[in-house]
Amino acid sequence: MLHPNSLYYDHLKPEELAFLKKTADFVAREIAPHAAAWEEKEELPRDLFTKAGRAGLMGMLAPKSVGGQELSMLCFCLAIEEIARHCGAFAMNMAAHNALCVGHPLGHASDELKKKIFPSVLNGDWMVAWALTEPNAGSDTGGVETTAAQSPDGTWRLNGHKLYITMGLHSDRMVVMAITGRDEKGKKEFSAFWIETKHIEPVRKVPTTGVRASNTSEFYLKDVPAEMIGARGKGQHAALACLDGGRLGIAAMSIGLGRGAVEIAKQRMLTRRQFGKRIADFQALQFRLADCEVELRAAEALLLPPCVMHARGQKFSLEASFAKLYASEAASRAANSALQICGGWGYTRDTSVERMWRDARLCEIGEGSSEVQRLIISRVVLKEAEEKYGLAEPKK
Ligand SMILES: Cc1cc2nc3c(=O)[nH]c(=O)nc-3n(C[C@H](O)[C@H](O)[C@H](O)COP(=O)(O)OP(=O)(O)OC[C@H]3O[C@@H](n4cnc5c(N)ncnc54)[C@H](O)[C@@H]3O)c2cc1C
Repeated sequence: MLHPNSLYYDHLKPEELAFLKKTADFVAREIAPHAAAWEEKEELPRDLFTKAGRAGLMGMLAPKSVGGQELSMLCFCLAIEEIARHCGAFAMNMAAHNALCVGHPLGHASDELKKKIFPSVLNGDWMVAWALTEPNAGSDTGGVETTAAQSPDGTWRLNGHKLYITMGLHSDRMVVMAITGRDEKGKKEFSAFWIETKHIEPVRKVPTTGVRASNTSEFYLKDVPAEMIGARGKGQHAALACLDGGRLGIAAMSIGLGRGAVEIAKQRMLTRRQFGKRIADFQALQFRLADCEVELRAAEALLLPPCVMHARGQKFSLEASFAKLYASEAASRAANSALQICGGWGYTRDTSVERMWRDARLCEIGEGSSEVQRLIISRVVLKEAEEKYGLAEPKK
């Protein structure tokens, strides 16, 4: 499998290329033939996660010292892209698992907790969810109402209501964001916790437009025993840091979905005949295809800098927002064009184009919506301009 963006190869080690080859084989064998059936059933089989863990897909970014693969961010993104070309729901799961569910404890948990949870989290024995969103806390994480209180014996107990949590009801363990108090100005103090999912009270699998095979869930936490991850009050900072990597995973998922849909459209263009010609001979469709290719290449080009910056140990939040914003919107446009190129057949469930179109839409919302990415970008750009031109307003 040769990636259309050959510049990527300059940034991958031989062992990473071998990992990607192995991943492509895994996807062709274990995922591609089943993705449509999982969508119909609205469920991913549990043993897929065990197999993925054994194939190294559950610990791609984690160091070898804890049982991970120690791959670069770029290699992780290319693996997510390959999965998404065939199954958006599982790609979303792997993106969230690696960047958030593993990334959070990896970067912030005590050595004692890490020893307890790794390698079960990395080898596929445990499925892990990451729970921030609530009925009153989406883009505005300040709305979190779940509380954590410490009992006299030192145990933390969580109470609250979480919503839209990927694999929430199917997970074994979970990272949960909760409020541990308020500072002297009344500002909420966020902390992160590790829980066993068996203690939650399920409400439902939330029916979604796309990524239907994923378990998007709603549940209550009622006096759930929990272990703190990292320092008290540092939960929000840690969550936002994990979301930088998470956004690159969603950008990669977007590119994979866009490419998957466009590949089907290309084949349809070359085989479907109308008015005595292949539909590939109609300029209107050729131009649509050209726009898809350009936009997906542009999305790939925006994904490379934050991956390189991550490898250099530099902060890449702004670049992650560029990549996530552009790739998710480009993928939606590409999947929409692919569906249009395929005509009535594209709109039916006889092909995967409509599934990819629905799945791609999620990428514009999850892990920070397009509007939130535009807020982040414009805030940085305007701050730079204020400094450059000496035009900052005096602080009130
Ligand atoms: C399938 C799926 C899986 C998910 N998985 C997880 C998960 O595993 N863990 C988790 O914690 N969460 C998860 N989420 C939640 C997801 O991260 C949120 O849906 C997302 O952050 C948006 O929040 P919201 O849905 O509350 O939208 P809202 O915040 O209510 O936003 C509504 C609209 O207002 C816009 N908006 C909000 N604020 C502003 C502003 N200041 N300026 C301009 N526009 C604004 C938004 O962009 C959006 O268009 C998942 C969601 C879905 C659909």
